[in-house]
Amino acid sequence: MKKLEQLYEGKAKKVFKTDDPNLYIVDYKDDATAFNGEKKGQIAGKGAVNNVMSNIVFQLLEQKGVPTHFVEQLSDRETVVKAVKILPLEVIMRNVSAGSFAKRYGVEEGIVFDKPTFEFSYKNDDLGDPLMCESHALALGLATEEQIATIKKYAAIVNDTLKEFFLDKGLKLIDFKIEFGLYDGEVILADEVSPDTCRLWDVKTNEKMDKDRFRRDLGNVEETYQEVLKRVKKAD
Ligand code: 5GP
Repeated sequence: MKKLEQLYEGKAKKVFKTDDPNLYIVDYKDDATAFNGEKKGQIAGKGAVNNVMSNIVFQLLEQKGVPTHFVEQLSDRETVVKAVKILPLEVIMRNVSAGSFAKRYGVEEGIVFDKPTFEFSYKNDDLGDPLMCESHALALGLATEEQIATIKKYAAIVNDTLKEFFLDKGLKLIDFKIEFGLYDGEVILADEVSPDTCRLWDVKTNEKMDKDRFRRDLGNVEETYQEVLKRVKKAD
């Protein structure tokens, strides 16, 4: 597998072409951004944590029937993935109120929902990733009705699987954002699942174990990312 020219550089990852047109190599960075790029920084070791953690999670989700872009981990920061075309929809599920949900509705963080919530954001940095309803996604042709039904089905499996997985590691899955892509005409899970994209609270202390430590200047950011990876790697 040859790493060829860089195709794209995002806020947290670089994507490279390979000598196989069906495969890319993603290279995870330590760069951290928040509030649509307004807050910038570095979290030492984050790239490796997010890469390794995403790969563990994606392999688990494959076993549960969710197809993913994961192919092979090359190094602590680099992974071979299927060359998907990302759908410009951020898929967010919540089990407990936090973040933009708490702010939008003027409620405290920590309200446990009877049923998980499901929402889309339009993945568009210029617009600040606005909340988007399904009919608007359809109107703009961002996905088909069938693709949205598949996304909902997979997202529910991701939530059920990860809630149980993290709980076993002493972490409550508060909410998460996932992204899907098209590969061979099929919807598959892409991007990453990491403390950058999930809210995780310690089961015993409710301490925040995710990117909110960076967003809200809570300290111990690097140590927390390492602790999450340690727990995720822990054998059952
Ligand atoms: P909220 O809408 O409360 O800000 O975020 C809900 C969940 O989705 C959180 O776990 C948050 O980390 C994740 N999330 C939402 N938008 C983004 C985004 O643009 N980038 C990343 N990395 N995570 C996001």
